[in-house]
Amino acid sequence: MSTPHVQENSALEHDTHGPRTHTCGDLRAEHVGQEVVLKGWVDTRRDLGGVIFIDLRDRYGLTQLVFSPQDSISAYQKAERLRSEYVISVRGIVQKRTPETVNPKLATGEVEVRVRDLVVLNTSEPLPFPISAHEEKRTAASEDVRLKYRYLDLRRPELQRNLLLRHRVYQVTRRYFDAHGFVEVETPVLMKSTPEGARDFLVPSRLHPGKFYALPQSPQTYKQILMVAGLDRYFQIVKCFRDEDLRADRQPEFTQIDVEMTFPTEAQIFELIEGLIQAIWQEIKGITLPRPFPRMRYDEALRRFGSDKPDTRFGLELQELGSVFQGSGFRVFESVLEQGGTVVALVVPGMGDQGRAYMDRLDKEVVRKQIGASGLVYFKLPSDGGPVYSSVKEHVLRPEVVQHALTVLQAQAGDLVLLLAGPKPQVYLQAGALRLHIAREQNLIPPTGEGPWHFLWVTDFPLLEWDEETQRYYAMHHPFTSPHPDDLDRLEVDPGSVRARAYDLVLNGNEIGGGSIRIHRQDVQRRMFRLLGIDDAEAERRFGFLLTAFRYGAPPHGGIALGLDRIVMLLAGAGSLRDVIAFPKTQRAQELMSNTPDEVSPEQLEELHIRVVLPETASPRP
Ligand code: ASP
Repeated sequence: MSTPHVQENSALEHDTHGPRTHTCGDLRAEHVGQEVVLKGWVDTRRDLGGVIFIDLRDRYGLTQLVFSPQDSISAYQKAERLRSEYVISVRGIVQKRTPETVNPKLATGEVEVRVRDLVVLNTSEPLPFPISAHEEKRTAASEDVRLKYRYLDLRRPELQRNLLLRHRVYQVTRRYFDAHGFVEVETPVLMKSTPEGARDFLVPSRLHPGKFYALPQSPQTYKQILMVAGLDRYFQIVKCFRDEDLRADRQPEFTQIDVEMTFPTEAQIFELIEGLIQAIWQEIKGITLPRPFPRMRYDEALRRFGSDKPDTRFGLELQELGSVFQGSGFRVFESVLEQGGTVVALVVPGMGDQGRAYMDRLDKEVVRKQIGASGLVYFKLPSDGGPVYSSVKEHVLRPEVVQHALTVLQAQAGDLVLLLAGPKPQVYLQAGALRLHIAREQNLIPPTGEGPWHFLWVTDFPLLEWDEETQRYYAMHHPFTSPHPDDLDRLEVDPGSVRARAYDLVLNGNEIGGGSIRIHRQDVQRRMFRLLGIDDAEAERRFGFLLTAFRYGAPPHGGIALGLDRIVMLLAGAGSLRDVIAFPKTQRAQELMSNTPDEVSPEQLEELHIRVVLPETASPRP
C-alpha cells in the first residue's frame, strides 16, 4: 500500500476564498465577465505547456478551468502539481470559450473560468481505478475493488445519477401516499421472526440470555396489526432482511415500499399502485403510462410464457402439443403424457438453418445443464423451403407426426421448432427459461432503462406449492394470504387446487411487487397454519400475538410491497441492484468497504452469552 503524501499535504492551504458562488454545474454564457468561486475535485488535467486545463467536478457537473501564467504565476505553478481528485477552490473570471472549443455535451460547455487564485484544500493518493467523468464507461477495475473504495466509485456521475433518481422516487412515493390518505408508520427492526420463506438474520439479546430478535423479512405482521388497530391506510419505505444464498441479483438487505389497507378489493389495490407507478414514471421518465395495466392469470402466464413473471415485450410464446403426440408411437413423449406431463413447443423464426454444432450445444449446455430439462427434440425448416429436418430418426418419430405438429404450430420455412417434454409445471418453467435464452441470444430483449414498459398484474396464484424434497406444502406467497373464498371448502381435501387472493406486479419480466388480500379470521388462519405443518401449539408460540389480535374485531385487509431497489434499477437502466444502492453487499453478503461482517471482541460475545463454534471446514482467516 502506498504511504500518505506527507510532503504534499504540507502544501495544503487555508481556504481564503470563502463560500463558493456557484457549483460546477451552474455557469452559463450569462455569467461571462463575473468573478466566481468554485470548489470541487480535479476530474482531469491537460497540460498544454503554457496553459493548463482542468475539469473541475462536483455533484452538479463539470466546469473547465484555465490556468495561464499571464493570469497568475502562482496559480499556474500550483496547477502544475494538481493530480486527479485533488480538492481545490478557485477564484476566477468567467469567459466565453472560443467557438471551436465549445462543448455542446456539457451544460457549462459554452464557458470556462480563467483562474486568478488557486487554493489546494486536499490531495489524493493515486487512484485504485479511474473515476473521471470522462471515463464513465465501466472501468476495468474489478467490482470488488470498486466496492472497497465505494466513496470513489460513488463519485462517478453514473452512480450519482442513480442515487439522485432513487431520491426522487422516495419523494414521489411519499407525496403520492400522503395525498391518498396513507399514514407512514415505522415498524420495529428488532422483531419476532416473520416467515417470508427465507432465513432470518438474528440479533442476540443481552438482557434475555439465549433469546434472539429477528430482523424483519418484511413488516408483514406489524402492518396487518396496524389494520386491526384501525390505521386504515399504512405505508412505509422500509428495509427488509433475508438471509438467503444470494441468487444472481439479490441483496440481503433491501428496500420495500410497503402498503396495507382496510376493506380493500383487489381492484382498489391495483388502482392505487398503478397510480403510484404512473406518478413515478411521470416524474422520472416524463411519460404517462397507459392504465389500467393488463392482467393475466397465473395459469395462463405459465402456459404461454413459462413464467409467473412473463416478459411480454416479445412473442416466442409457448404452445402445448400434448394431443399431437398422444398415440403417435413416439414412446419418449407418450410415456411423459401417460404420467400426466406434457409437451411444450417454441417456434423460433429465422433460426431454421442452424447447424449441427449450434443445436448440440443448445441441447447439452443450455437445455440439459442450465435449464435442467431431460433433453431437446427439434425440427428445422430451412429458409429455402427444403425438407424438414427432425432431430429424431424417422423410424422412432414418424414424419406424419412431425408434419402434424408443424401444422398445429403453423410453422413456416425458416423456423426452428424446439420441443421439451416433462412433468407439469416444471416443463413450462423449463420452456420459459429456454424462451428467455433464445430471446437474449436473438437480441429480442430491449435494454433496461428504456421502454417499452410492459407492466402486468399476475393474479390467481395457487395458495400452496408442493415441495418434493420435504414432502410438504409451502405458502406460495406467505401464510397470511387469504384463500379464494370459493375454494375454502377444499382447503383440507384438495389443498393443491386452492387459489390465493394473491397478485404480483411484473415489469418487463421482473417481479417488482407482490401482495394479497389477507386472512383476517383466526379460524381460517389456524387452518392455514395446520396445512403448512404448524400445529396449534407452534402457531400460538410463533404467531399467538396475531391470532389473539384477530379475536378482537380484525377488519378485512390487504396490501402489497414493491421492490424499490429493482424499480430504481429498471428506471436507471442499471446493470445490477448494486448500482442503485449506496453501500451494497456482494454476492457473498459482504460489505467490502468496511469489511462487514467481521469478528467482534470476546467481551462483546460474553455480554451476549455467545460462544462461537466455527465449522470444521472453515479456513483460517488470512
Ligand atoms: N410482505 C410481503 C412481501 O414482502 C408483501 C405483502 O404481502 O404485502 O413479499
